[in-house]
Amino acid sequence: MNILFATSEAVPFCKTGGLGDVCGSLPGEIIQLGHQPTVILPAFRQAMDSGQPIEPTGVTFEIPIGQKLVAGEFLQSKLPGTDVTVYLVKQNEYFDRPQLYQEDGEDYQDNCERFTFYCRAVLEAIPLLDLQTDVLHCHDWCAALLPAYLETLYHGQEAYDNIASLYTIHNLAYQGNFWHWDMALTGIDWKHFNWQQMEFYGNLNFMKSGIAFADAISTVSPTYAKEILRPPLSCGMEGMLQHRRNDLFGILNGVDYSAWNPTTDQFLNGNNYDADSYEVGKTACKAALQQTMGLPVNADVPLVASVGRLADQKGFDLIARVMQQWAANNSFVQWVILGTGDPKYHQVLGKLAEDYPQNIAVKLAFSNELAHQIEAGADMFMMPSQYEPCGLNQLYSLKYGTVPVVRATGGLADTVVDTTADTLADGTATGFAFAEYTSLALSDALSRGCETFADKRAWKQLIETGMSQDWSWSQSARRYIELYDQTRARAQQEVLH
Ligand code: ADP
Repeated sequence: MNILFATSEAVPFCKTGGLGDVCGSLPGEIIQLGHQPTVILPAFRQAMDSGQPIEPTGVTFEIPIGQKLVAGEFLQSKLPGTDVTVYLVKQNEYFDRPQLYQEDGEDYQDNCERFTFYCRAVLEAIPLLDLQTDVLHCHDWCAALLPAYLETLYHGQEAYDNIASLYTIHNLAYQGNFWHWDMALTGIDWKHFNWQQMEFYGNLNFMKSGIAFADAISTVSPTYAKEILRPPLSCGMEGMLQHRRNDLFGILNGVDYSAWNPTTDQFLNGNNYDADSYEVGKTACKAALQQTMGLPVNADVPLVASVGRLADQKGFDLIARVMQQWAANNSFVQWVILGTGDPKYHQVLGKLAEDYPQNIAVKLAFSNELAHQIEAGADMFMMPSQYEPCGLNQLYSLKYGTVPVVRATGGLADTVVDTTADTLADGTATGFAFAEYTSLALSDALSRGCETFADKRAWKQLIETGMSQDWSWSQSARRYIELYDQTRARAQQEVLH
């Protein structure tokens, strides 16, 4: 099968979150299963500066965007270590910018135009680059117009006749919602601007268009696939999603253990470890992390960390409150936070680090190297998310012997087993989970974590259970292959009807 991945992120070219990890690693797994994936990305400045070898293809094109014709060019590269071809859509006015989607917390004003262009460029690429495509696998709102184009403007054209579309929701809250006049930019007939297709409370909505027109829809964990059928996590899409619930699937993301593995991790400065040697290796990583972050070096103090986009979704309001309360009470705990995002969290977290320099260290940046060092050096990793479609950091934490403390939602509920007398006895416990979205519930889970940390035998059991688990892509990649087959069957049925 030939699968074309349409995505705005893929590691190591460009990434702001889990989407980049998934689209950088899943194609490499698919090719190993005997299928032929190709990736197509916007040529963001971040991708062009990624250090990957990027070559011209010599193929240029022009796309009507509203009243104007916009020119672009295809570049090409490979996903490193694989035979997967990556094409990049070059259009410097749209993509040669400091960030991918927004700056200083403000979305780029022309995001609709930028990603309309990207989607149409993907469709142009199919005949121009002769991309054999059985399934067009579209990821998140940036690629969500593609299923709509296949069923409208490009419908009936030979080059697109046999292409089935799978639309994967990585995060339902980011929808690509634009004022209605932007509909004119897409070139799609206004008759599709209706409540069952592209219109959402008077606006043009990319996410809704993807859900309405794709042959099948998936999201990134079984629990999130259920949660998004109802408010509040449906984010207004409950009607659409319930209508399509028989075409909606949940497949857990996998981890790329060639990048996230304490045995081989290049960022650990030689302090690598595995399930047999973690006591030495992890202790060295913890001391190194304490030093890097300017905290007192002490093996006995529980070190609790979090890495993530500083967005409301990730529960940083709870984290800030709990850190403040615990630090003010002189609790014997150290905190390390790495993140960037909403300016309000930059301010709050920066202030906490200033007020409690002995206990709280905050780095307001995007640093892959430090993210790896935190996974290795921390004792516990907090993810008190309001919602979490899958979450990758808890899976990295398990492999690094860092005990996750999570809110039981979405993929976090699917992957972390709360520690109780029963789960300790049956050997399934891997972390601490709580239900209520309150600082009290987070604080309580962290207290249970700290108590268990002091119980060396129980702590060892948690670490060893987590480290022995396999959250690699092997199972999920097979599920995607099955889903591609199902998607094609659904597309075929539609043709027959
Ligand atoms: P989401 O996709 O919602 O952001 P995930 O947990 O699925 O959340 O994936 C987040 C990914 O982004 C992880 O690989 C995490 O390490 C990385 N990440 C997030 N923020 C940062 C940061 N400030 N520095 C380095 N890596 C980060």
